Amino acid sequence: MTTAKVLLVGIDGVRFDILQQARTPTLDRLAGSGCHHSMAIPEEGITVSGPMWSSILTGTWPTEHGVYDNSTAPERRLPDVFTRLGRQGMLTRPIAVAAWQPIVAATGCGPLVDPTLVDCVPIDMPDESPESYIAGDRTVLQIAQARLADPAVDAAFVYFGEVDEVGHRDGVSDRYRAAIERADSLLGELLDHLDARTDREDWTVIVTTDHGHVDGGGHGGTTLAERQVWVTSDRELGIVSPVDIAPAIYELVSAGHHGNSCGHQAESTPDTVPARAHT
Ligand SMILES: [Zn+2]
Ligand SMILES: [Zn+2]
Repeated sequence: MTTAKVLLVGIDGVRFDILQQARTPTLDRLAGSGCHHSMAIPEEGITVSGPMWSSILTGTWPTEHGVYDNSTAPERRLPDVFTRLGRQGMLTRPIAVAAWQPIVAATGCGPLVDPTLVDCVPIDMPDESPESYIAGDRTVLQIAQARLADPAVDAAFVYFGEVDEVGHRDGVSDRYRAAIERADSLLGELLDHLDARTDREDWTVIVTTDHGHVDGGGHGGTTLAERQVWVTSDRELGIVSPVDIAPAIYELVSAGHHGNSCGHQAESTPDTVPARAHT
């Protein structure tokens, strides 16, 4: 039995209705063999990057993971799903690459991915302008491609940040839609690179966002434009909420390990395996 490998791609701040209007051949191709649908961030969620990426990576809402804003680290850090799987010996070399530092580095509310077990690569950014993120996201792509050339890498979180910065500066505009199309193109380059491996290996690709934007640009509130998010995957995984993503990844990878072993079950505790939040 082939061990399941997972690529999780995060594209920050992509509003669902604008994504539907944008030209996104890569996401369309993934959806063609799997699924693409909207999801709502419920009351328990916070439409801010740090809290939401923490929800996506841990499968819990802020009352559990403790990340309420972008600047304050939680008192007790819940492990991200790659760390949980790594601690249980079910991943060999997970990686995380991001230009927004709190994802992978001890700054602000970060690191949302624990660098102890996961090979975390923060990209240096001169500032948070859209122009810096265009260059930063391309560097993220190049580093992710280089890391994925290592056959030991068996899970990856790759994060692109330009779309959110354009949303803040220009609002939901033609430039915002163009940024979404650039992110889809980066995703296409990343998947092309993975194709040589997927011939021989069982990779599942999941793409998602953390929140939308109000028309004038900005998020953090409770309007539908901010709360409506989405997920695209090349496999139907039963994800109906952002907090289903981490459990889906956990189940995918651990199922392969259960199949490989002689009846051995992975360690399972309430802290390490959050229940799916089907609502
Ligand atoms: Zn965000
Ligand atoms: Zn933002």
